[in-house]
Amino acid sequence: MNKKICIVTGGAGFIGSNLVDALLSKGYKVFALDNLLTGNENNLREASKHPDFTFIKYDVINELPVLGPINYIYHLASPASVPDYQNYPEETALVNTVGTRALLKVAKAHGAKFLFTSTSEVYGDPKEHPQKETYWGNVNPNGVRACYDESKRFGEMMTMLYVRKFGVDARIARIFNTYGPKMRPDDGRVISNFVNQALKGEPITIYGDGKQTRSFCFVSDMVSGLISLMEKEQTKGEVVNLGNPEEYTMVDLATKIKTMTESASETAHKDLPADDPTQRKPDISKAKKLLGWAPVVPVDAGLKLTIAYYKAL
Ligand code: UDP
Repeated sequence: MNKKICIVTGGAGFIGSNLVDALLSKGYKVFALDNLLTGNENNLREASKHPDFTFIKYDVINELPVLGPINYIYHLASPASVPDYQNYPEETALVNTVGTRALLKVAKAHGAKFLFTSTSEVYGDPKEHPQKETYWGNVNPNGVRACYDESKRFGEMMTMLYVRKFGVDARIARIFNTYGPKMRPDDGRVISNFVNQALKGEPITIYGDGKQTRSFCFVSDMVSGLISLMEKEQTKGEVVNLGNPEEYTMVDLATKIKTMTESASETAHKDLPADDPTQRKPDISKAKKLLGWAPVVPVDAGLKLTIAYYKAL
């Protein structure tokens, strides 16, 4: 039987590289594309020993080289942490707009299934809690996060346009906060910051009053959700939240991480970044019903694995 052939854009990134490993272990042939702007080839060290793996350093806003038959295109390429996309606002805006269109054209030409990774950021600072896929969001269209939020919204629109106009077999995952091994220690996200600060005995930086909430999904759960959304029947044109509804304030998260690392770190308060959402928690009833998927790794277990990963770096 011919092996399924997958493209993973952003394959050297945090979620992308974890997805590559999972697809290889399913027996698929995988091409990882990444321009290494915020991704890191070290994340692909294991994958690159595999005979069915190819890495191509490539910026997907350009036309793709001909790769032969393709079954699945996972489009994850984009800076995704707040400091990363604010350092690279134009690259972020382009990969989610021009890049998404370029890849949709490839999907159309090859009859490949396509998955666009959108984000909980499309809900902005949500007025509805928890957030369902039917909620249209509360986004600042020209603020400092707009390069990410608005380009992901554009990417969703373009994906649906290709479904409706050309019948492309595409779907959209809205990824909520995700953490775990291969997340860059200096990417500026809350869990990478808190764990590394706690391990070094440095002050744990809480932005604002720390009462804002987020809900954290371990990366293996995210990867299984993405694969399921790609492969399940009757997901064409569907928009699905993927995340873990376990919700924490940043103060509670800091306390938990401090305890788990047995750290003597103090906490330090810093200014709240502009347009920082006050609350976020996915409603995952659609993913449960459509995919039979729900996260299985509790936050305590996932944090333990993440702490061990950073300790070993
Ligand atoms: N945050 C914090 N300290 C940090 C980094 C982040 O208190 O060192 C807060 C940030 O203000 C936000 C939450 O943690 O309210 C999640 O931030 P992150 O950048 O991880 O993700 P996002 O804002 O995209 O959800």
